Amino acid sequence: MIPDYHIHTILCKHAKGDIGDYRKVACEKSFSEICFTDHAPNPDEYDSKHRMGLAQFPEYKKMVLSLSEDKPPVVLFGVEADYYENCTCFLEDWLAEQPLDLVIGSVHYIENWGFDNPNERSVWDSVDVTNTWRIYFQLVERLADTRLFDVAGHLDLPKKFGYRPSDKDLKEIVQPVLDRIAIAKMAVELNTSGLRKPVNEIYPSAMLLSLAYEREIPICFGSDAHLPGEVGYRFEEALNLAKDVGYTHAVRFSGRHQISYPLP
Ligand code: ZN
Ligand code: FE
Ligand code: FE
Ligand code: ZN
Repeated sequence: MIPDYHIHTILCKHAKGDIGDYRKVACEKSFSEICFTDHAPNPDEYDSKHRMGLAQFPEYKKMVLSLSEDKPPVVLFGVEADYYENCTCFLEDWLAEQPLDLVIGSVHYIENWGFDNPNERSVWDSVDVTNTWRIYFQLVERLADTRLFDVAGHLDLPKKFGYRPSDKDLKEIVQPVLDRIAIAKMAVELNTSGLRKPVNEIYPSAMLLSLAYEREIPICFGSDAHLPGEVGYRFEEALNLAKDVGYTHAVRFSGRHQISYPLP
């Protein structure tokens, strides 16, 4: 099975289950490789309710590194780090100091609005949807420009509750951003957690993925598991989406380097 590169742990306060059970599920589903990418900590209290504290990072590292066994799956060490204003002050030095295999870059906030948080969903009814997507993708563009991240996480996350612009507007908004992602040599993940959400669709959509394919942007796969049973969640569908769009290869990571492999 293709590697699952987006898995959380209880340290983020909104995932459940023993870390060993995530590995166990991966083993049962015959995964050769998985990567834990829990929400990265920071020193500035940004979104501290949904992530480990900086002081817990050594514990996270120990938990993940101690999972390595002789038999598969290989367990990689990663983080999902948020892009937000001024995040680079900390991330620039800190990420470089950690023995990471993979850094997913995500945007979960527009100013103080957690736009993908179910508790803040009603805000969507009072905003200009297209303009909100525009602002979101401006942040993703800056994320790419930092060169601090390896993978763009759940690229069209604002669709989570079904609020989305027309295809025409979205295309116009997203193309310059994909250009920057390509220049940054980042990969885009096919994140199956959208299939567990109201939108019931993989992130990113087939349209966005074809625009990524046109730019030869590499792909990887993630379940965004917050429960052990979610490891590898509906990966067959993600694999089919990638192939439908034209992809024949995806990338693995090791020590933050991309390694291409053919899709099964
Ligand atoms: Zn999470
Ligand atoms: Fe995320
Ligand atoms: Fe995640
Ligand atoms: Zn996520």
